[in-house]
Amino acid sequence: MKNLPDLFGSMVFNDEVMKTRLPKDIYKALRKTIETGKHLEFDVANVVAGAMKEWATEKGVTHFTHWFQPMTGITAEKHDSFISPEGNGKIIMEFSGKELVKGEPDASSFPSGGLRATFEARGYTAWDPSSYAFIKDGILCIPTAFCSYSGEALDKKTPLLRSMEALDKQALRVLRLFGNTEAKRIITTVGPEQEYFLIDKSVYNKRPDLLYTGRTLFGARPPKGQEMDDHYFGKIKPRVLEYMADLDEELWKLGVLSKTKHNEVAPAQHELAPIFTNTNIACDHNQLTMEMMKTVADRHDMVCLLHEKPFAGVNGSGKHNNWSISTDTGVNLLEPGATPSQNAQFLLFLVAIIKAVDDYQELLRVSVASAGNDHRLGANEAPPAIVSIFLGEELTAILEAIESGEAYKDKEKFLMEIGATVLPHIPKDTTDRNRTSPFAFTGNKFEFRMLGSAFSVSGPNIILNTIVAESVSILADQLEKSKDFNADLAALIKSTFKAHKRIIFNGNGYEEEWTNEAQRRGLSNLKSTVEALPAFISQKSIDVLTKHHVFTESEIHSRYEILLESYAKTIHIEALTMVDMVRKGISDSVIHFQNDLTDLLTKKKALNSGIESEFEENLIKRISMNSTNMYHKLEALEKSIIETKNQEDAFETAKFYKEVIFSDLNNLRAVVDELETLIPSNYWNYPTYGEILYSVK
Ligand code: ADP
Ligand code: MG
Repeated sequence: MKNLPDLFGSMVFNDEVMKTRLPKDIYKALRKTIETGKHLEFDVANVVAGAMKEWATEKGVTHFTHWFQPMTGITAEKHDSFISPEGNGKIIMEFSGKELVKGEPDASSFPSGGLRATFEARGYTAWDPSSYAFIKDGILCIPTAFCSYSGEALDKKTPLLRSMEALDKQALRVLRLFGNTEAKRIITTVGPEQEYFLIDKSVYNKRPDLLYTGRTLFGARPPKGQEMDDHYFGKIKPRVLEYMADLDEELWKLGVLSKTKHNEVAPAQHELAPIFTNTNIACDHNQLTMEMMKTVADRHDMVCLLHEKPFAGVNGSGKHNNWSISTDTGVNLLEPGATPSQNAQFLLFLVAIIKAVDDYQELLRVSVASAGNDHRLGANEAPPAIVSIFLGEELTAILEAIESGEAYKDKEKFLMEIGATVLPHIPKDTTDRNRTSPFAFTGNKFEFRMLGSAFSVSGPNIILNTIVAESVSILADQLEKSKDFNADLAALIKSTFKAHKRIIFNGNGYEEEWTNEAQRRGLSNLKSTVEALPAFISQKSIDVLTKHHVFTESEIHSRYEILLESYAKTIHIEALTMVDMVRKGISDSVIHFQNDLTDLLTKKKALNSGIESEFEENLIKRISMNSTNMYHKLEALEKSIIETKNQEDAFETAKFYKEVIFSDLNNLRAVVDELETLIPSNYWNYPTYGEILYSVK
């Protein structure tokens, strides 16, 4: 048994390491930078870099990299060795403060949505001291932000940090109003629950669709999927357990608080949840987690699929973004308090969030839009594409009582007087009963459930932090002017709830009736990425994002372009992969089997003795019909692919991919799936759903 406390964070240049390895004044200066975001002097950076290098080289490290998060949604690194010539043909190991603080990767090949073309040719990376450096695969990794020389963000970290600052600033105003002079800083916290599939490498390698697109583009349903509900929380197979143990160990070494693991709903589907932490770090850690999931799977001869919908007909994978607001002293502001004043503050934050989600439903929807996630949202499995809030019975009843001014609950009959009453105990929704709500209050945090499994959690949290900062700022504006704080506070909570309660829905989001009801309430229902994305560049979105200095207008436009392009490219690759697989492997199966079948039929007939051949004749008829059909659908797809070039702009192109290519693809798939059921397995060139989903024994 390994000593976990010793193992944990052993590959992280964390606070404890800094404290023991840095001179006191340097340590203090660095802590100050970490806590307040203050600029770090170069001489301090030099000493920190020296200590980092010492620490890393003692662990056999020879290279370092600035580790950053470009708009690809995954992380990037470029390794530099510590070597520096001494002039006598020898080298010393060196790592300067300058190298620590700033890097200049050749960044021209990362998506920039035209930003770098109009501004600067190169980008640079800048150290983020608030996220610890760590050693991964023998490389010292320095978490960094990635910007253009004119200061435009080219990554996912920079705007996340900006959004956290925006919320910090606004939420502190509220705390001051309630007489809190202690808290210096407000942060948001996130604990992302990560779903994934594990399959055996041997089946993966035989499926070019999994290899190129991360999902299966065809595959007839297996006789057994998830209908027996026997996988969820079921006994974990030994091979998967070994994988999970190995993964935990790797994550713990990196200081990731991996905590919970279990089987998910679909066969071969699992989940990992860490303990929540500061959103910036949670985001870095989730990136590391996703990467490590793949790396460790490879060591176990398995492949970890993070795609939102690797298999049709069984559940896809999402990521639940548990989110809350906390002070630097560790007080969770979404915890209903024990005193009337704490409760009044809680209620104010609560209605601020309700207002934010209602005012900016579209922006939240944009933040979870991708080609992969389109298979889930609105497709009757994950939360629907309609954004709504689950508050639970108790909290809803409390707010309704406040709104109507009537007694809360028949039994207890007391008036909810804000600032004077203690809230009744609000039960945590620990059983996760309402799994269909896209945005659920779970006792002391909100759970944003619309994220796709492959997402960086950065994007959705950028939006969440910003829109809450906005509504908090509006409420604070009013209260700061107040002459009678308690009365105005009560009135404000009441009026805010009243104005935005249409966003609250405690029922089953999968039911058709909800769609109609949501429409009556005027809630938006942006069913697909292409329908959602234009909301990103609406004046309302631009206003809120620029007001809080989270994005500049050109950054928004560049990101919009990137999202559209990435959507189109994803479907494009899927289309080309499908064409290739149909033309090669599937045609081959179809032709060979038909050939053998007709051979048999001919031979039977030649015997001329009245032998039955109804089965063969029937089968060949059906296969012929389907293969002709397949040929037509394939031709249609190929023709459409050529037409993609005729589209005017990025939006029209994306729209064409959604409306034409994607549906051509589905039409072709339907025929291929039909053929798969007709052709014996020894002729079928690809592993079937059954073989893939049950490949890990
Ligand atoms: P459940 O959602 O099943 O009730 P938990 O309450 O344990 O389970 O929480 C699930 C996830 O939410 C975990 O990753 C946990 O760390 C995270 N979480 C708990 N409290 C907070 C918080 N205050 N802020 C952000 N995430 C949190
Ligand atoms: Mg949960």
